[in-house]
Order: sequence, then C-alpha cells, then structure tokens
Amino acid sequence: MLIRKRTRNVKKKKKFLLARKKFCRLCVDKVKSIDYKDVKRLESFVRERGKIISPRISGNCAKHQRMVREAIKKARFVSLLPYTRI
Ligand SMILES: [Zn+2]
Repeated sequence: MLIRKRTRNVKKKKKFLLARKKFCRLCVDKVKSIDYKDVKRLESFVRERGKIISPRISGNCAKHQRMVREAIKKARFVSLLPYTRI
C-alpha cells in the first residue's frame, strides 16, 4: 500500500513540473515603454488586493518588470491604482 501511494505522488509532481513555460507578454507585444495612465494594462500586473505580481509568477522579463513597477508606483501616487484594497 505504502509503495503505491508513493508512486502516485511522484506522478503528480511530474505533471506539476511539466507546466507550460512562461514568457514575457510585453516582449511579445514589443512594448518599449509603459504609460502610468494605462490603467487597464497595469491592472493585469496587480493582484486583487493591489499587490504587484512578481515576475516569477507573471513571467515578465527583468526589463519589463522594472517598467511595470515604476508605472504602477506612479499610478498609485496619482491615485489611479490603489495601494491596497480592503
Ligand atoms: Zn519583456
């Protein structure tokens, strides 16, 4: 019984590791700069609660993540985006 359980777990892990590869959506669109007034685009990089999604999860490259971060911070300052939501 114990051995069976183990093999099942291994299979599950393998499936998880074979998940689709991430890519930078902004590189695909060849985005050169991100406007802080472009709230629709910025909201796709922010969680429900207002947190910025990390590149490890969103798949952004370092260059574009930097642009997104700066734009979100500017948008927050002029209250286009929230710092947090309750
Ligand atoms: Zn990119």
